[in-house]
Amino acid sequence: MIETSEVFNQESEVKTFDPKHRKTIAKNMGKYRASVASGMTQYENHELARSRASFLKSTAILNLDKMLIEWEQKFTSRGGKVVWAQNAEEALLAIGQIMKSAKARLVVKSKSMTSEEIYLNDFLESQGIEPFETDLGEYIVQLAGQRPYHIVTPAMHMSKEDVSELFHKHLGTELTNNPEELTMIARRLMREKYTEAEVGITGGNFLISDIGGVAVTENEGNARLTVAFPKVHIALVGIEKMVANMLDLDLFWPLLATSGTGQHVTVYNTILTGPRQEDEVDGPEEMYVVLLDNGRSKLLADKEKRQALNCIRCGACLNACPVYKNIGGHTYDTTYSGPIGAIISPQFLGLEKFKHLSYASSLCGGCTSVCPVKIDIHNILLLNRKQSVEEGMNNKWEKLGFSFWKTAMLNRKLMNFGGSSIKQWAISVMFKNSWSRRRQEPILAHKSFNEMWKSGKRSA
Ligand code: SF4
Repeated sequence: MIETSEVFNQESEVKTFDPKHRKTIAKNMGKYRASVASGMTQYENHELARSRASFLKSTAILNLDKMLIEWEQKFTSRGGKVVWAQNAEEALLAIGQIMKSAKARLVVKSKSMTSEEIYLNDFLESQGIEPFETDLGEYIVQLAGQRPYHIVTPAMHMSKEDVSELFHKHLGTELTNNPEELTMIARRLMREKYTEAEVGITGGNFLISDIGGVAVTENEGNARLTVAFPKVHIALVGIEKMVANMLDLDLFWPLLATSGTGQHVTVYNTILTGPRQEDEVDGPEEMYVVLLDNGRSKLLADKEKRQALNCIRCGACLNACPVYKNIGGHTYDTTYSGPIGAIISPQFLGLEKFKHLSYASSLCGGCTSVCPVKIDIHNILLLNRKQSVEEGMNNKWEKLGFSFWKTAMLNRKLMNFGGSSIKQWAISVMFKNSWSRRRQEPILAHKSFNEMWKSGKRSA
């Protein structure tokens, strides 16, 4: 069986040298950078905002047990129903039962990475239920038979020409390179689906403890329609999305918008606190929130890495990462890609299988410097590497190499053994098929510093 890491290496090689991919990503990332630069002008002191956000999220994560209970009490007091799902299987089982009692045939969905995490669409299809993605980017990747490329912009890897061809192939529409026309094509199709669907599924950007609410952020208004039309609404939310009170959103909403897309604030920010009440004119008859753990408690128990749960999924670290920009989102083959994916995927899905993601980093710290909640991303990558070594997951060649290196480094005679030509030869043999395939080998000095020092001559 081919190792996940081998597939990752092969895919990385292909994507990095794919000129079309490079061009599309460079263009879209360029637009993102310009937009963020303009969005940042709303902050007098962005650093302070980041520090406050980091403190508030860390406090919420440290008090998660109490806040979740408080949140549940408030939410159920308004008629909402709560499902605690320890893993994907429990979440799918509960959703399957809700679908049965709603006699669901069609489900409209707004963008939700947690639904990707539990492979919800595959499950619904296996039950004979059509899942219909209503976020434009999600709809595009669903039509293309792909998974999201990016946690904020799922179809970032596709140009408008690609989308036009996709629509032409699957929907029989005329080819057009006009983004507005392309949007209208999808929108016309979606309108009908909202009114036909029995169930609407959303994610949730924040759980608000003091009011028992779920905050949903989006730019297209599709999440609101997903909640408003069907009789049943399910919000599938990771337990770590907690904030202590509603006023905290004053800080988090703009931070999420600016880091995610460069906007001052996202177009639609909705707070949902339960099903339709007697004095309300719209909203679902039933509202469920599925609180998903799926590895989060395990991460919470790890003092050094639990700050990864502070993530508000803005995607900024992906856009800052030189590795992500070259290999692209699909290469990671996980729901969460880029730097944040590289730190949480091994924890959620198993370190043994996904530890290679923590090595796919230049450790430049670009991710850490843009993170709006100040997660120490590049150092957590190192902690994952350390854990994998401590748990004996590194292969025998790596172990042998490091043990040899350590022995030599601690022994002056061994370090001087053979002179520079032997060492140069050893480097070219050892790294011929890896580092040196695309880079110039380091050229060693003719004499080592130690040799020069001993001879009293200060030049090689
Ligand atoms: S780790 Fe930070 S930068 Fe990356 S997605 Fe999460 S909040 Fe955004």
